[in-house]
Amino acid sequence: MKKILFDLTDAELTEFLSELGQPRFRMKQIRDWLNRGAPNFDVMKNVPIDLRKKLDSVAQTLPVSIVKKLESSDGATTKFLLELNDCEQIECVLMRTSYGNSVCVSSQAGCAMGCKFCASTLLGVKRNLTVSEIFSQILVAQWELRQDKFSDKPIRPNGDANNNDVSHIVIMGTGEPLQNTENVIGFMERANHDMGIGWRRITLSTCGIVPGIKRLIEWGRPINLAISLHAPTDELRSKIMPINNKYKLSDVLAASDEFTATHNRQLMIEYILLGKKNDKGETELYNCTPEYAEKLSNLLRGKNCMVNLIPWNTVDERDFASPSGNAVHRFQDILIKNGIHTRIRRERGNDIGSACGQLRLNNKKGK
Ligand code: SAH
Repeated sequence: MKKILFDLTDAELTEFLSELGQPRFRMKQIRDWLNRGAPNFDVMKNVPIDLRKKLDSVAQTLPVSIVKKLESSDGATTKFLLELNDCEQIECVLMRTSYGNSVCVSSQAGCAMGCKFCASTLLGVKRNLTVSEIFSQILVAQWELRQDKFSDKPIRPNGDANNNDVSHIVIMGTGEPLQNTENVIGFMERANHDMGIGWRRITLSTCGIVPGIKRLIEWGRPINLAISLHAPTDELRSKIMPINNKYKLSDVLAASDEFTATHNRQLMIEYILLGKKNDKGETELYNCTPEYAEKLSNLLRGKNCMVNLIPWNTVDERDFASPSGNAVHRFQDILIKNGIHTRIRRERGNDIGSACGQLRLNNKKGK
C-alpha cells in the first residue's frame, strides 16, 4: 500500500524524505502542496521531476483519490467520486453559490440508517471515515476552486471569479454523522482551525440520533444543526425512517431545541416531499398532503426554525415519485399561512446525479 503523505506528521515526513536522500527543506515544500490539496506529485513544480516520479511510485498525497469528476451544465456544481485507500468509495459535492463556495461532505462509506427514500443506505454501511478522510474532501474542493482561476469557465454565480475559497461546509453527504460523532467533531475542529471556516458556516445534518445531539451540545460550538424530519407524526416517520423506532419525534425535537437554545441558532428542518405512483400511474402525495402540512405546522409552531422543503430526487431503486411543482407550492403555502418560516431547496447538479449516494451506487452497479 502506498504511503499517504498527508497523514504523516512533520517529523515523519522529514524522515520519509531523508530516506529518499532529500534535504530537510523539502519537507516544507511538500507540506505546503499537501495542505493545498494537491491531488498528485506532478503538480509540485518546485520539486525536481525525478523526485516527483519516485514519490509517485511509493506514495500518494491525500487519503482520497478522484475516480470521477462530474460538472453540472451551468458549471456551478462539481461532484466528485473519491476512492479511499481500502477501495471504498465516497462522494463529495462542491457548490458555487451566490453566498460563497459550499462543500457537502460524506461522513461514512455507506449508511446504516435504512431510510426508505435514500440511495446512500442501499448497500448498508461499510465503515466510518477518519478525520483526515473527511477533511480531504474539503481539500479536493479547495484545489478545484483554485483551478477555476485558470480556466475559461464563466464567472461564478456570485459574480466573483476570484472567490476561490471554500467558505461553507454541509455535512449532508453519505452516512449519518452522529454515528461517527467523534471523527466528525475532529473534522469540524480541523476545518475551523486549519481553514478558518467559521462555526456558523458549518451545518451538520442528522436523521435524529439523540445522544449524538447531546454530545454536540456538550462540545459547545455554535454550528448549524439540521434535522431530517420528513414526517410530522411518529406513525408516518417510522414507516420511512427506521431510526424513528429508536428516537421518537418528541425526543429528537426536545434535544434539538436544547441545542438551538444553547447557541441561539435557528434550527433547520429538512422535509423531503414524497409522492407515490398509484395503479393508474398517477402520482399521489405521500408525506406532503395538506393534512400533513397542517400537522407539521402544529408540530413546529413557535419554534425558532426554518423548514427546508426538498423535492425528492429520483432514485431508481426506490418506490417513490417526485410531486409536481404545484403540489410543492401548495404544501409550502400552508406552512406560510401558519407562520412557519420555509423555503424550497434549490436543486443543484440534478443533471449529474447529485442526490445522496447516487454516483457511488451507480458506479458499483457498473453504470
Ligand atoms: N444522515 C444524515 C445526512 C445525510 S442525508 C441525515 O439523515 O440528515 C442528507 C439529506 O438528504 C437528508 O435530509 C436526507 O434525508 C436527504 N435525502 C436522502 N435521499 C434523498 C433524495 N433521494 N432526494 C432528496 N433528498 C434526499
